[in-house]
Amino acid sequence: MADFDLAVIGGGINGAGIARDAAGRGLRVVLIEQNDFASGTSSASSKLIHGGLRYLEHGEFRLVREALREREVLLRAAPHLITPIRFVLPINEARRSATLLRLGLLLYDWIGRRKILPPTRELDLVTDEAGLPLKARFHHAFEYSDCFADDARLVVLNALDASERGAVIRTRTRCVRADRTDEWRIVLNARGQRDVVTARILINATGAWNELFAEIVLRQRPRRRLRLDKGSHIVVRRLYNHDRAYIFQVADGRVVFTIPFEGDFTLIGTTDQAFTGDPTAALPTGDEINYLCGSVNEYLRTEIGAVDMVWAFAGVRSLYDDGARKAQDLGRDYALILEERHGEAPLLTVYGGKITTYRRLAEQALSRLTHFFPRLRPWTAQSHLPGGDFGYDGLEALVERTERTWPFLTAEHARRLVRAYGTRVERVLERATRIDDLGARFGADLTAAEVHYLMRKEWAQTAEDVLWRRSKLGLRFSPAQTALLDRFMTSAASSGPRP
Ligand SMILES: Cc1cc2nc3c(=O)[nH]c(=O)nc-3n(C[C@H](O)[C@H](O)[C@H](O)COP(=O)(O)OP(=O)(O)OC[C@H]3O[C@@H](n4cnc5c(N)ncnc54)[C@H](O)[C@@H]3O)c2cc1C
Repeated sequence: MADFDLAVIGGGINGAGIARDAAGRGLRVVLIEQNDFASGTSSASSKLIHGGLRYLEHGEFRLVREALREREVLLRAAPHLITPIRFVLPINEARRSATLLRLGLLLYDWIGRRKILPPTRELDLVTDEAGLPLKARFHHAFEYSDCFADDARLVVLNALDASERGAVIRTRTRCVRADRTDEWRIVLNARGQRDVVTARILINATGAWNELFAEIVLRQRPRRRLRLDKGSHIVVRRLYNHDRAYIFQVADGRVVFTIPFEGDFTLIGTTDQAFTGDPTAALPTGDEINYLCGSVNEYLRTEIGAVDMVWAFAGVRSLYDDGARKAQDLGRDYALILEERHGEAPLLTVYGGKITTYRRLAEQALSRLTHFFPRLRPWTAQSHLPGGDFGYDGLEALVERTERTWPFLTAEHARRLVRAYGTRVERVLERATRIDDLGARFGADLTAAEVHYLMRKEWAQTAEDVLWRRSKLGLRFSPAQTALLDRFMTSAASSGPRP
């Protein structure tokens, strides 16, 4: 008998989501990621749980409907990681008429079947505070709902839930070869240590690496079903004082948004450029940074430039090319291709996908395999992710409870921990009664207790894992503090697990 029912290769949102769904159905699952969880595209997204207003314009109704409906499903599943956010869309008749926008937003509200998120409304920018940061020539806007998420933590929590439901998790383990007979023989390389596992079914969830994986590891003929597209973001110090986001229509027909980020910052994105080569090498270019700054400067009174940037990142989208459309028309929808031949173990390949639709994608991936595993039912629609077992509107109450239970925390510290860990904040803080009980402090409000928790429970191994994927404290850390944290983690790892 094979070691596993499913081997899922790729620890981005899609691989982690599939592993979680499958483990929850009782399958024997191994999830394999070559670096850290979410080290690929899933930490470099715009972090929106959204339908994508622009995809309506492109006629992607199926995707938009599914994505809009997922917003509230995910908000209920992880109310600590996902926050409703209002987007202000200033009317700029030179780009799109107000009538077209009104119709689009009516449709967005209507097909989204909102129960929690408030509907679209019109804003008078002369009287509403959302008008203050904008140039005086913008008088009216629409305001609509979407959600904002911590994309990288969403991946980790899916992997954590998969593990708690019995999946075997292997990070920093590259799948270097997979041979197919009536089962898969999968060769793994974990920092020079090779080993082999076997599985009945292989799932290629390597995102933008998908075709490299198929050619090099599976030794398949090139398929050319994937188009890669790079998108960059920049982060600057907070540009305005309210908590809404803006979405600006820019000259090339695209949109650029500004989103309040991590309290003191504003996230600005995104660009869209054809990309070839290894996705690991994707970086924001000077032209992309100028494009983002220029787009914001067209709308906001405060001018920004490359010097204002405190962080920038790029990610690579994988778009499924069914051969029927031109490159620029390729949609954001996903495709699941199952290859099964008599006597040979099946291969399921994931193409495309969005953070927003990962849960549905996982559900559909499993439903493609029902003839191998009959009697297994979908279960994730009503579930909570770890720490998310409280009401979608219960975050403030949880912050207050945390402040009462651990009164030595500052308000910001308590809020950050609740946003990251939800009800599992008690597993991080345990029985601490004073800040010193949480051990060494590395910078910002990061303590040894939290780092130990991340190493023990969330597969964090390096300072980068902690500062840029388990949190965004990297925005507040100096190089010296980062080096200190790295040394601490190396020494904690070599001294073995904490009692
Ligand atoms: C600029 C940009 C903005 C976006 N914004 C949004 C948004 O706002 N909302 C939204 O819903 N979606 C958004 N998306 C889309 C979303 O980010 C992606 O669809 C999603 O992250 C893809 O996840 P994935 O799991 O398929 O790929 P990835 O996250 O890239 O995961 C694939 C993983 O496979 C691993 N891997 C590769 N080869 C191997 C191997 N041989 N062995 C082991 N592991 C391997 C990689 O290391 C990687 O971690 C955006 C995408 C981009 C590029």
